[in-house]
Amino acid sequence: MTQTFKAFLVEKTEDNQFHSSVVEQNFDHLPAGDVLIRVAYSSLNYKDALSATGHPGVTKKFPHIPGIDAAGTVVESSHSQYQKDDLVIVTGYDLGMNTWGGFAEYIRVPAAWVMALPEGLTLEESMILGTAGLTAGLCVNALIENSIFPALGEVLVTGATGGVGSLAISILSQLGYNIVAATGKKDNHQWLKQLGANTIVNRDSVNDSSGKSLLKQRWAGAVDTVGGNTLATVLKSTQYNGCVAACGLVGGVELPITVYPFILRGVSLIGIDSVQCSSRSRSQIWAKLGKEWKPRDLAGISDSIRLEQLTGKIDAILKGEMQGRTIVDLT
Ligand code: NDP
Repeated sequence: MTQTFKAFLVEKTEDNQFHSSVVEQNFDHLPAGDVLIRVAYSSLNYKDALSATGHPGVTKKFPHIPGIDAAGTVVESSHSQYQKDDLVIVTGYDLGMNTWGGFAEYIRVPAAWVMALPEGLTLEESMILGTAGLTAGLCVNALIENSIFPALGEVLVTGATGGVGSLAISILSQLGYNIVAATGKKDNHQWLKQLGANTIVNRDSVNDSSGKSLLKQRWAGAVDTVGGNTLATVLKSTQYNGCVAACGLVGGVELPITVYPFILRGVSLIGIDSVQCSSRSRSQIWAKLGKEWKPRDLAGISDSIRLEQLTGKIDAILKGEMQGRTIVDLT
């Protein structure tokens, strides 16, 4: 093993700015933990961009290494569940938030955060999915648990070209849903159709400004990655007994809505959290992601970058310019 390892380090300057660069780190700077992992791949999520730019809701301690996802090989383990050379993944918990994360050649984490690489996936594929895939899977699972079956009608996915949105479309498409993709990008319609979207709408059409409490019923269900007025609009347009799985906030954190969709139409709003969700539900979703829910063309959903290219991609994700997933190759 080398004396140092390569990492994407974010530092806070004296004038409260945040500066990132690829540096060599000493192993003794890694946090305590049961399992030392040689990271082969990480992935870029919206939350990583918030962490890398000093968003206090995500990361408070600097210098910091972001990266909420990591997949790799166990190097050392003091826990009986994991042995040297095991292939493993870590997503969520505190990884990349206030614990140094996957934008580095090595991480050290508690054994409780580690999962064996799910059957049916390579390390690289597990990171194309990553937190976005787990979140999309949890959203689809919520729709199924709330009896939103394909025959009931259209299912809307907002933030469609993003990581969570594109993977939700892929999974819903495998399951035979009639998918409406809401996007702000004009040039990606063909790509969304290839993923499995049946209809594409402009994101403005699900961002109502009429002030009405209820809108025409359209969606049997929805996966909302946008939040804010978009989520309010989606809830107001959801069919009687429909269900909306909400996971994101790229469009805002407020929810300007009355109780009418809930008490007059029996609409359910299900909150999705992939960070602290139980290891049981994680395992169940990951097992499906490796098998019947595995997107047909994972490679077509992603691009691959090195640590040195992260800064540009972080700017792009913050501007909502991403298409699909970006993995970070540390091999
Ligand atoms: P991405 O940046 O990959 O995708 C977000 C997409 O939302 C964009 O590509 C864009 O798609 C759309 N968008 C961007 N800005 C706006 C805007 N102002 N108004 C409306 N739409 C916008 O992010 P992720 O897919 O990784 O994450 C999506 C959201 O889900 C984030 O808020 C993230 O924090 C959250 N998240 C939550 C998790 C949880 O456990 N609850 C886990 C993972 C993510 P388009 O151009 O097609 O409209």
